[in-house]
Amino acid sequence: MSRHTRIERYRNIGIMAHIDAGKTTLTERVLFFTGRIHSVGEVHDGATEMDWLPQERQRGITITSAATTAFWQPRQGMGAGVPHRINVLDTPGHVDFTIEVERSLRVLDGAVAVFDASQGVEPQSEAVWRQADRYNVPRIAFINKMDKVGADFAMSVASIQARLGARPVAVQWPLGEGSAFRGLVDLVRMRAVMFDGEDGSFVDGQALPEAVRAEVEAQRLRLIEACADEDATVLEKFVDGRLEDITAEDLERALRSGALARTLVPVLCGSAFKKKGVQMLLDAIVNYLPAPSDMPAVEGFVPGKEARVSRPVSDSGPPCALAFKLMSDKAVGGIVFLRVYSGTLRAGTVLLNPATGRRERVGRLMFMHANRREEVAEVHAGDICAALGLKGVRTGDTLCDPAEPVVLESLGVMEPVVQLAVEARSPAELTKLEDGLHRLAAEDPSLRVGVDPESGQVLLSGMGELHLEVVVDRLRTEHGVEARVGQPKVAWRDTLRRQVRQEYRHVRQSGGPGQYAYVVLDVGPAPRGAGLVFTDDTRGGTIPKELVPAIE
Ligand code: GDP
Repeated sequence: MSRHTRIERYRNIGIMAHIDAGKTTLTERVLFFTGRIHSVGEVHDGATEMDWLPQERQRGITITSAATTAFWQPRQGMGAGVPHRINVLDTPGHVDFTIEVERSLRVLDGAVAVFDASQGVEPQSEAVWRQADRYNVPRIAFINKMDKVGADFAMSVASIQARLGARPVAVQWPLGEGSAFRGLVDLVRMRAVMFDGEDGSFVDGQALPEAVRAEVEAQRLRLIEACADEDATVLEKFVDGRLEDITAEDLERALRSGALARTLVPVLCGSAFKKKGVQMLLDAIVNYLPAPSDMPAVEGFVPGKEARVSRPVSDSGPPCALAFKLMSDKAVGGIVFLRVYSGTLRAGTVLLNPATGRRERVGRLMFMHANRREEVAEVHAGDICAALGLKGVRTGDTLCDPAEPVVLESLGVMEPVVQLAVEARSPAELTKLEDGLHRLAAEDPSLRVGVDPESGQVLLSGMGELHLEVVVDRLRTEHGVEARVGQPKVAWRDTLRRQVRQEYRHVRQSGGPGQYAYVVLDVGPAPRGAGLVFTDDTRGGTIPKELVPAIE
């Protein structure tokens, strides 16, 4: 059997955003327009298709990183008329769950960064953006909520440049903002697109309204200048003053190469909620974001040896895949989400997990669509799929051909920052509690479970208060354990935490380095230290030396 979709027609993307920017709504619209779901549950009603865990529905936030397969046939651009397979990885927006964001960034090839048109770049969008920088993820930006009072496209684009240091290039210009948002100008084709009705339909190919012509021409010139830096043909025509000879294909080619090289960020706009601009965004995902075959060969090393290896993205050769998400599902049990980097992986094959040294048989393989699961016999390089039957796999583990072992570069796991003590309500429940925690920790590398030697309390360490709240919730709903929850008994922790909070406020107020910082508490049996780590260097969890005296 050969592959279902040619690899150049894949887009493995994430949608990343500050909480409330509209990521969930946009994801739903993407699935709606790609024809996979027919009635879109509004986020306000707490009924969404992407969110899997009950507590996400209650909270209205997206925590898990589910992968969903959809198909889109662009209307225009290099992918025009050809169905493309878009795998959408749902990335969480809350800063407590940045570890989840990091995991999905590791396995996707491109991302749509969503911003609220009335806010521009917000603190958490900045944190997520920096993480995407670290994983070299090519991006396009979607300025959402253009229908909202206070929407300001120009301000939002400018904030991407000012706050993120990126080179945003508007490829559209809105016609009207807030309640007057009625269409947009496609700056590549210099045509107006007017929205028509509530269902997302639009009329393309309209003449430009005279009132906006001067502004739109200035924006087109900016687009051409940016493209001239990326593409020799555009540059030549630009310096010769032959602007009218610059074709839509020229500009699209330049935008694609700039986006892939991460030297520019194409910017689009719309309103996910009102279903405006989503189809053009889907076209842009195909036209400006990379296929797995555009990405460099994946790097790894041979276990037990120093030797580094790279595995080209190809269906032939030994299979290797990375487990990036574990979930449990009532119907089928444990699901491991895999990104296949090279080779072909078949249901029933035995693979090696070099992290444990164990061989594991892949049971069933599935593609997850928004409303159904599709069982397949094999998956190929570039695929994102769900595997059943894997027992000892943890997030971040590599699965490979036992004859050709490789360990793909691991995911950065940040140090937990918040602790909570949990206690079983009765001695009989203790085993259930321990068992539940053990399973949750296996799914979630940012969760640590330990026993404090001084107090004997079971302590959970996680990325934030919300993170641990969710853990306690899941203990109850998935494992039937009502745990008693409290603060750890040891007093020095509170003192340290207070000091760190003060320091944190101080850094924020003084607008000091890396304005947005994580608080890191080194939570051992004795106070070893605490401090601030700036978003730029959270990775190793090291405490900047100059801060240690201040805290001690
Ligand atoms: P997330 O936290 O980024 O996933 O954001 P949601 O998709 O949950 O949206 C947050 C809120 O913004 C919800 O109340 C949405 O209905 C609302 N929202 C999302 N997109 C738009 C939009 O395009 N326009 C307006 N006015 N509201 C929107």
